[in-house]
Amino acid sequence: MRIADRIARLGTETAFAVAARAAAHKAAGHEVFPFHLGDMNIPTPQNVMDAACGAMRAGKTGYCPSPGIPELRDALAGDVSAARGVDYSMENVAIQPGGKPVIGKFIMACMNPGEEVLYPNPGYPIYESQIEYHGGVAVPYRYVRDDAGFHIDLDYLESLVTPRTRAIIINDLQNPLGAECTPQERERLAHLAMRHNLSVLLDEAYFDIRYGGRSSSLASIPGMRARSIILYTFSKKFAMTGWRLGAAIGPKAVIDIIAKLNVNDESCSNHFIQHGALEGLTGDQSGPRAILETLKERRDIAVDLLNSMPGVSCPRPEATFYLFPEVTELMANKGFGADYAAFAEDVLVRTGVSLCTRLHFGRPLPGEKRRFVRLAYSGIGADEIRKGLLALKAYAE
Ligand code: PLP
Repeated sequence: MRIADRIARLGTETAFAVAARAAAHKAAGHEVFPFHLGDMNIPTPQNVMDAACGAMRAGKTGYCPSPGIPELRDALAGDVSAARGVDYSMENVAIQPGGKPVIGKFIMACMNPGEEVLYPNPGYPIYESQIEYHGGVAVPYRYVRDDAGFHIDLDYLESLVTPRTRAIIINDLQNPLGAECTPQERERLAHLAMRHNLSVLLDEAYFDIRYGGRSSSLASIPGMRARSIILYTFSKKFAMTGWRLGAAIGPKAVIDIIAKLNVNDESCSNHFIQHGALEGLTGDQSGPRAILETLKERRDIAVDLLNSMPGVSCPRPEATFYLFPEVTELMANKGFGADYAAFAEDVLVRTGVSLCTRLHFGRPLPGEKRRFVRLAYSGIGADEIRKGLLALKAYAE
């Protein structure tokens, strides 16, 4: 069978290959500490499960409107408006089968082939894949690290804008860095987007995974609502990664296009699951609160242990469930230099710790000399975190 040329441009999430390698190592009888995938081993809140099961039994098993059931669109518009200080109503919401589909749909709706889209590197690998798959030019922007954490290199970002730049993807509360923009950085990003008339994808998948205080959205800066699509997901806040439910939120004209893409692709998102999500938004909030407490405890255990290892240094992010420690010295001490794959394999075989490296989040940028790995603590309990990282500490020592 002939395969279309564009498939050569389709990327993937190579973290799934790390998962397969970890599974093979475990099947061979070894203990494995799964720090590689941003999946969650925390159960979905009971009230959400009950509501979804109840809806299924009550016959909510047929198609529903393409942009989602009106009750959920309405509740989500209210929730997002209140949390972000922006005014959205139901017509600004298109429910999706996960947050991820918003990325491709934003690109399809807002970018022509040949146009440039700015995206974060290190960053979620699907951005580059979708931009290139749809015939765009993916232009990576970079981060700098100081003692407190990672920040977008805004001067560098400015230098990347050309007359062909059509859009920018911003993942505030960022995977894999755990980075969060300061208010000043948000202002600068907003001015850049407005000055160059860019469409903006605000990937806010981790908006609600913040440990101290509230998150803030670029959509709330005057002028930004009209040019931004928010990627919302139920996956993280409600530990619903496998349920597949999210939303695109933004100006009605673009949301209508995205809903039309839904008609073509999926008809609608799963019907009874939307009733579970509605309960998540409007019902008892102790579930998401407990999820956040569990994650925070894990973060502190992991960060403390990582910083106790020679050759490793790790900021303590206030958001997301990812850590991105620097391991330049450790890799050099172990004789790996820049060979991330050999290092990760050695760590797995000698300690059982399965992790992703910087390479899973984009190609290294010119001049990049420091080395980093990513650990996710959403899919591994506190005891296992301790055991795994003590083994890694012994390896480092
Ligand atoms: N955006 C970022 C930055 C992510 O890390 C993820 C998932 O890990 C997603 C979007 C999509 O998540 P989902 O499709 O489960 O909503």
